[in-house]
Amino acid sequence: MTVSKGSLIYEGKAKKLFETDNADRLIHYFKDDATAFNAQKKGTIVEKGIVNNKISERLFRLLEAGGVPTHFVERLSDREMLTKKVRIVPIEVVVRNIIAGSLAKRLGLKEGEAITPPIVEFYYKNDALGDPLITEEHIRLMKLAEPAVLNQIKAWALRTNALLAPFFAERGLILVDFKLEFGLHNGKLVLADEISPDTCRFWDQKTKESMDKDRFRKDLGKIEEAYQEVLRRVCDV
Ligand code: UDP
Repeated sequence: MTVSKGSLIYEGKAKKLFETDNADRLIHYFKDDATAFNAQKKGTIVEKGIVNNKISERLFRLLEAGGVPTHFVERLSDREMLTKKVRIVPIEVVVRNIIAGSLAKRLGLKEGEAITPPIVEFYYKNDALGDPLITEEHIRLMKLAEPAVLNQIKAWALRTNALLAPFFAERGLILVDFKLEFGLHNGKLVLADEISPDTCRFWDQKTKESMDKDRFRKDLGKIEEAYQEVLRRVCDV
């Protein structure tokens, strides 16, 4: 371990954040707690923290190699990841390849149809407001990100999709949609947070079964098994 763990600075729904003896580094501790529907539904997915930490490491490495800078520094243990300290841009960025979830519900569209080319959506990261869908004009109005930063976010979100979708396809998983968060590190944009079955929708190519947090949201059972299966396919374990 290259740093020592300091005090807890923030506890979120799925992670705890700790300071370190390096002012520019944070430790993310991945918990097993699961929430859905703006935390109205709560539960535990056994060993989810370990799975999400390891999957995120693999995907951050893949993205870095593909030209998308991330906050990832190193994985310290089963549940701990060392990252650069960033100022999170308060926007949740969703990329969609297939119609599902809130898109199907809000617009009355049929789940399962391909979206070509993929679309990018923005949500205002604000639990009290229930993370509402926002437009680029709203982002400008609220000064959530500079226009140049927003353009970079969009480009990197699509690049992330272009790198991840074939990676998952090779492993028998359809990348339906996913959510990203970005942060500013010394004024430079980097991809932050995590990329895991908590933040992505994966459907098994053959059976079309959900292999992600939808199993928890919809009480589909075999939740732990699905997370472990995604880990196995992503990390070749
Ligand atoms: N997502 C997320 N956190 C959120 C909302 C959505 O990680 O607070 C992910 C979700 O897992 C899915 C994608 O973003 O992969 C699109 O989610 P959607 O807008 O369809 O919302 P949901 O149906 O999950 O409410």
